[in-house]
Amino acid sequence: MAIVGCGGFIGSHLLKAVLQRTCWRVFAVDLESYRIQQHLADPRVEFYCGDLANPSVVQRIAQFPVVVNLAAICVPSRYMSEAATVIRSNYDHPARLADACAKSGSWLIHFSTSEIYGKTAADSGLLEEDSADLVFGSVAASRWSYATAKLLAERYMAGLTNLQWTVVRPFNFVGPYMDFMPGVDGEGIPRVLANFSTALVRGEPIKLVNGGLARRTFTSVHDAIDFIFCIFENPAAAKGQAFNVGNPDNEISIAELARIMTEIYADVKHIPVEEIPGAQIVDGVEYYGVGYEDSLRRMPSVEKAERLVGFKASTPLREVLRESLTWFAEHYSTSDCLEKLAE
Ligand code: UDP
Repeated sequence: MAIVGCGGFIGSHLLKAVLQRTCWRVFAVDLESYRIQQHLADPRVEFYCGDLANPSVVQRIAQFPVVVNLAAICVPSRYMSEAATVIRSNYDHPARLADACAKSGSWLIHFSTSEIYGKTAADSGLLEEDSADLVFGSVAASRWSYATAKLLAERYMAGLTNLQWTVVRPFNFVGPYMDFMPGVDGEGIPRVLANFSTALVRGEPIKLVNGGLARRTFTSVHDAIDFIFCIFENPAAAKGQAFNVGNPDNEISIAELARIMTEIYADVKHIPVEEIPGAQIVDGVEYYGVGYEDSLRRMPSVEKAERLVGFKASTPLREVLRESLTWFAEHYSTSDCLEKLAE
């Protein structure tokens, strides 16, 4: 099989699981490899440093019978400042790969996003894969550059004759190796879990955008990997379908997430919770830039994944937050990281 975006957060967990649970060979494509370094010497792994901008790599990827595409720019802080690059990465590149897979007959498992459900209101209900109406902000609201590109890629794949496709819409996957720590292994604003973890490790206040009233359902990356295996095992049911992958039991407001993460971090580090700085409210446009808007609630219907491929996420929120925070605190306390922070 081929995994595009194999060196990223989800890709690194998927590679590990594929090597543990199967005897398949993996063509692993990414621009970075530090998260999968321990697997690069495995004779079943061939790593290619590059991306889908290169047409010859696209052709090579499409020679594998199963292709999982995880490659994307998916950090909200970049949707406003780099909209054109975000659209190329989330529409042009996947469309090119889809064309090649349609020709070769490969099964393309494409990672889209729960953000295609658009600017959902605080009182919006269950988001169903095949019936939800989609509402986006205006073109001036560049936050939606990512969502519109992802949506177009989905429509393109569904419209291609001969393509065997499955679309996955992740609902806020979290776990070890998610995103980066600004100033150490990335720049800008990572997604909420990494950003709150960074603030806690550095002893800085957590920033609550517009009061942290938005709600999300956080899903353990380990559940997400189990979902991928459910579709590997049920190709006939999975082909030609888009699936929400989320955990409705883990719905929480961002303000509440900040409170729980603070509590867990204090416990993990054995420090009194009062020693941790309180959260600070920031304005969304000032924090992220002009064009920022938000989805206020993202609640997945998960009935389809259970009915068609027998998948149901089961990891409770507190468990995945504890695992992620413990990993983050350990990973970013090495002397290398501390030196970078001091520079
Ligand atoms: N958020 C926040 N502080 C941060 C980062 C994010 O309050 O430091 C909020 C953000 O405004 C959104 C939610 O947390 O309401 C989730 O943001 P994230 O960037 O993780 O991705 P999204 O779910 O919006 O795609």
